[in-house]
Amino acid sequence: MPVKTIAVLTSGGDSPGMNPAIRAVTKTAIRQGARVFGICNGYQGIFDDDLVELTERSIGGVLDRGGTFLQSSRCKTFYNHEGRVAAVRKLFDHQISGLIVIGGDGSLRGAIEINKLGMPVIGIPGTIDNDIYGTDIGVGVDTSSNTIVELIDKIKDTARSHRRCFLIEVMGRNSGYLALSTAISCGAEVAVIPEFRYNMPRILDLLANRYRNRLNDSIIILAEGVCDADTFIKHMQEVQGENVLKQEVRKTVLGHVQRGGRPSHFDRLLASRMGELAVISLLSGERGSMVALNRGRLTLVDLEKVCTMKKRLPNDIIRLARHLGIELGDVVEV
Ligand code: ADP
Repeated sequence: MPVKTIAVLTSGGDSPGMNPAIRAVTKTAIRQGARVFGICNGYQGIFDDDLVELTERSIGGVLDRGGTFLQSSRCKTFYNHEGRVAAVRKLFDHQISGLIVIGGDGSLRGAIEINKLGMPVIGIPGTIDNDIYGTDIGVGVDTSSNTIVELIDKIKDTARSHRRCFLIEVMGRNSGYLALSTAISCGAEVAVIPEFRYNMPRILDLLANRYRNRLNDSIIILAEGVCDADTFIKHMQEVQGENVLKQEVRKTVLGHVQRGGRPSHFDRLLASRMGELAVISLLSGERGSMVALNRGRLTLVDLEKVCTMKKRLPNDIIRLARHLGIELGDVVEV
């Protein structure tokens, strides 16, 4: 059956750029002669019959707003088969013939399952963590990275003025991408990321050397996927022993400010491109895929592959970090 009525939802953690993606889906679908319904509150909205028809008017003013105006949630019912069968039935009851899911890897797993149950689905990677296989970058990563850089620049002013070391905990779930890429653009000394095993004696030596040589500030960026900032500081203190740091170490946990804010130009453009391609793909009979950015070009990747393969950090970024002298720790043997 050709897709004529599309539904779109945002699920899991919100990310800046979800709104421009919904906007592009709506505008494109309308111009392609399809109707579009927004499902509010993620997968939960399917069970609550919380659907609203999207028009040019309903997407007015959303392009420059962070978060998602359709709202998002985490929906337990979706983890079981019966729940998903009921959801697909509900979608067909609403005459929906194709669904676009904007969300992170969890949401995309849900998307595959409903695709298997007969509802054609296209995914859009919406996450700040950049942990989704098959796409160079997800919607929201750029804005989030810009926020982190702006905040760390400010923290560095104090670090320099007081000869302090700052430990800054950033998001990223199990991926070190945000921590590593912002360590490069902030000029951090150390990046502690899940992909490497950190070497505390080496970190302490590096900090002590910098202090001795009057290199006043030191920044350690810690990915949340390794441990929390308190645990890391405790470990620092345990390992210090006699070699006590003369420098004060302060922590800052950036928290949810990293997820909010006006989407950057890059995210607005990426989200718009992905939203448009998602609609034209769905309308032309494509299903079970995710739109992705691959070396600057937009492509479609099999959702099954997206959810079974692990995204790795780009080798050139790791090499760059090493050449810039960022302490990363030791390679974890697989
Ligand atoms: P994100 O999409 O940001 O990674 P979650 O992992 O919390 O966020 O997933 C969001 C929602 O997607 C979950 O609350 C659930 O409804 C659905 N989901 C996640 N994983 C699965 C799965 N393995 N099977 C089916 N649905 C899933």
